[in-house]
Amino acid sequence: MPTAYLDHAATSPVRPEVAEAMAPFAGARFGNASGSHRVARDARTALEEARDEVAALLGAAPREVVFTGGGTESDNLAVLGGLAASLAAHDGAAALVHSAVEHPAVVESARAAERGAARLAGVPPLSRRVAPVTPDGAVDPEALGGLLGPEVRLVSVMAANNETGTVQPLDEVARLVRRLAPRAVLHTDAVQAAPWLDLAVVAAGWDLVTVSAHKLGGPKGSGALVVREGVALEPLSWGGGQERERRSGTHDVAGAVGLAVALRQAAKDRDAEAHRVAALRDRLADGLCAVPGVTRTAPGSNVLPGHCHLLVEAVASEELLVLLDRDGVCAAAGSACASGALEPSPTLAAMGVPEDRSRGALRLTLGWTTTAAEVDHALAVVPAAVASLRR
Ligand code: PLP
Repeated sequence: MPTAYLDHAATSPVRPEVAEAMAPFAGARFGNASGSHRVARDARTALEEARDEVAALLGAAPREVVFTGGGTESDNLAVLGGLAASLAAHDGAAALVHSAVEHPAVVESARAAERGAARLAGVPPLSRRVAPVTPDGAVDPEALGGLLGPEVRLVSVMAANNETGTVQPLDEVARLVRRLAPRAVLHTDAVQAAPWLDLAVVAAGWDLVTVSAHKLGGPKGSGALVVREGVALEPLSWGGGQERERRSGTHDVAGAVGLAVALRQAAKDRDAEAHRVAALRDRLADGLCAVPGVTRTAPGSNVLPGHCHLLVEAVASEELLVLLDRDGVCAAAGSACASGALEPSPTLAAMGVPEDRSRGALRLTLGWTTTAAEVDHALAVVPAAVASLRR
């Protein structure tokens, strides 16, 4: 039976160039990059070459790249570490702002910061402010402006959303924040945007930038946080002082090499790939929207090329996903927790999608391996599954 893997936003297959480049580090090149002898130096050379490449591809200097254990860790380090540094530098009232559609790695870090400040005597209360989005999922600049002020220490707005693929107006947000909240550190979670957008351009004005290798065809558990020169950051892990004291722990050299190669491959033919994948996505979305009661979630908005997010009336996502899986279509509903249970999506709620409609959310995400045959297979399977559930 053919399989259509349409869940690239969850993770993308590892690129062959990545697997090949990482292989030696599971064998002969096993050194600890912090040591001084030849085996260690060999590992360090590989690590620093990876850093140079990641930096160049992200529009940063090598010293601005902190290797981490993935997107979640980078987001935690940015939100908690950026905030802690700012609280240490300035007294007085403090607030942080994030959009209503951030990934849980940002939202839960912000909540943890809020709880932590509440517990620590002597630290002024920290207010967490959530910036609303318009029905197409983009941050509403006017509403964001109303939340900003000199007390705001950190603003986190993702480059593109993991569920709907909506691309945020980062330039406009950055200009607004710099004007109205001059003390704020700007963080963007660019995990979903990285395969499709040139972050050297899109995130140029941002202080802290999160990326994760496995959404790019790299390994899981490897990511980076760009920390621009002069931006203060408190570490979250303490130990040997690796990564210029910003992230202690023996380096995952293979992971860093995998991230560099994945970014390189994604950048190599980004425009052509974006064009190819968007055409496949549009064919898929148009075909599925011909089914009565199936609509695109944010039809007019600026969406990543790989994302096809639909609302299917009178069908529950969980049941639809089971049928699709049975018939060889790997898809998602968009918001899942670790247990696999589906919860109503906060992102869709923030966009004003009523709960009964969001229960029929279907996220099909295409990527570098997606073929026309996979799209054809989904175009045959999804309508049949929807019809059978409705019966
Ligand atoms: N941020 C976004 C927008 C994501 O989509 C994800 C993963 O789904 C993460 C952060 C977390 O990244 P990781 O899986 O590398 O921890």
